[in-house]
Amino acid sequence: MSTKLYKNLIGGEWVTARTGKTFLNVNPADSEDVVGEFQSSGADDVDAAVKAAAEAWKTWRLTPAPKRAEILYRTGEILTERKEEYARDMTREMGKVLSETRGDVQEAIDTAYYMAGEGRRLFGQTTPSELKNKFAMSVRMPVGVCGMIAPWNFPMAIPSWKLFPALVCGNTCVIKPAEDTPLSTFNLVQALMDAGLPEGVVNIVTGYGPDAGAPIVSHPGVRAVSFTGSSEVGRMVGQTAAANFKPCSLEMGGKNAMIVMDDANLDLALDGAVWGAFGTTGQRCTATSRILLHKKIAAEFTKRLVARADALKVGNGLDEHVQMGPQINQQQIETSIKYCEIAKKEGAKLQTGGAPLEDGVYDKGHFFAPTVFGQVKPAMRIAQEEVFGPVVSLIEFADFDEAVEIANGIQYGLSTALYSRDVNQAFRAMRDLEAGITYVNAPTIGAEVHLPFGGVKQTGNGHREGGTGALDFYTTWKSVYVDYSDKLQRAQIDTGE
Ligand code: NAD
Repeated sequence: MSTKLYKNLIGGEWVTARTGKTFLNVNPADSEDVVGEFQSSGADDVDAAVKAAAEAWKTWRLTPAPKRAEILYRTGEILTERKEEYARDMTREMGKVLSETRGDVQEAIDTAYYMAGEGRRLFGQTTPSELKNKFAMSVRMPVGVCGMIAPWNFPMAIPSWKLFPALVCGNTCVIKPAEDTPLSTFNLVQALMDAGLPEGVVNIVTGYGPDAGAPIVSHPGVRAVSFTGSSEVGRMVGQTAAANFKPCSLEMGGKNAMIVMDDANLDLALDGAVWGAFGTTGQRCTATSRILLHKKIAAEFTKRLVARADALKVGNGLDEHVQMGPQINQQQIETSIKYCEIAKKEGAKLQTGGAPLEDGVYDKGHFFAPTVFGQVKPAMRIAQEEVFGPVVSLIEFADFDEAVEIANGIQYGLSTALYSRDVNQAFRAMRDLEAGITYVNAPTIGAEVHLPFGGVKQTGNGHREGGTGALDFYTTWKSVYVDYSDKLQRAQIDTGE
């Protein structure tokens, strides 16, 4: 079967990249399964996309928000109809198991409906003026052309978190999907177009980060940039945007801790640990990569967690019986190997896993064994740095205060979890854990779209996706004063008499 060629979407037209180059999107579970051939774009392609988006903005910003929202609502319905097809495409390009890719599409559906509702809200404020016969209000204005750069681990959900709020607010968009997972962005935008999105409102430029991502950030026509990815790239994106005074939302890495107290329901905590550490093959920004164990339950928990990790069925995510898919590419496998070596050198004790799975059914993919390290100390690199693979570190503590100190002792601050039946500890955890998200008696993964999503410290730069925080990023506030006194009234000077 010949490989399907996908082109960039610019101004409603499907066009090849001006570079003349393409790249292949290959199934990480099966190197013989080529998902598609995509454009390897450069700065000229980005420039054309930005110009198309700027042209489309002239009419899109004047389209009433409830009408823009109706397109999102229809998009939600179309995605619902195509959920299974798009989930299968996503498993092929990204590797995670079908139940999770169905969840990824569902997250886009939830975001579509949630943001569709905003079309009839987008509330501003009215407030009294200090002067007579004068009216004051604030209104949300669209920003203009928004540039978006996405990672590969949530190939449809994350683009939907960016596109849907931007669109309902009246912006037009240029999006660059991750080079490992462009198809899911195509599917998402196809649903938008089938729902009636006008040409040029969303433009897709595929390609590698330095070639196709960097020009989006630096282009003078792009008024705001939304980036999700590693802290290393996020730092460069943020610096370029700052040099041009461009609003820039950065959602980056995590090193998320689950604290298990001695009074916790251990069965529940184990279920949470397995899902948090090995769901999406550990490749979630919110993955549970550190499990902090009260010393009284540490031995039992470790034994049971290792047994659960060993029992996980690893394989091609298209097989409904498989519980954990491959890593996204060979580079991520190398990273997992590297960190396992570092952990062993630092004195952590490998409990299980620690190596790629290569024989038999695994020989065509990028598989890594579910891995557990015991006797990890908080300062070790394996406890400090993001691995982004199925590798979890177990750290013992003596009391609640020590657990919070360890949990907070990292450069990241995305997600945290506490397992305890003590309500006092639960409230202290909600207050004291330095993170954008805290779960009580649930794992570090599982965000819902109508709540703010993002982190503190080196995880983010203060913006939020999801919830109304997204509206704050994709709009600017305009204050409007209407003076109907028919005379000059000077604020702070005239008394209004
Ligand atoms: P990455 O930083 O390598 O790539 C992210 C995107 O940036 C890709 O589209 C890539 O092509 C692009 N890019 C690379 N170099 C660029 C450059 N110089 N200029 C502009 N764009 C460039 O990250 P990844 O490997 O795709 O994703 C994994 C990372 O993303 C992890 O660190 C994970 O924690 C993080 N992540 C964070 C969140 C969150 O919301 N906090 C969500 C998902 C993933």
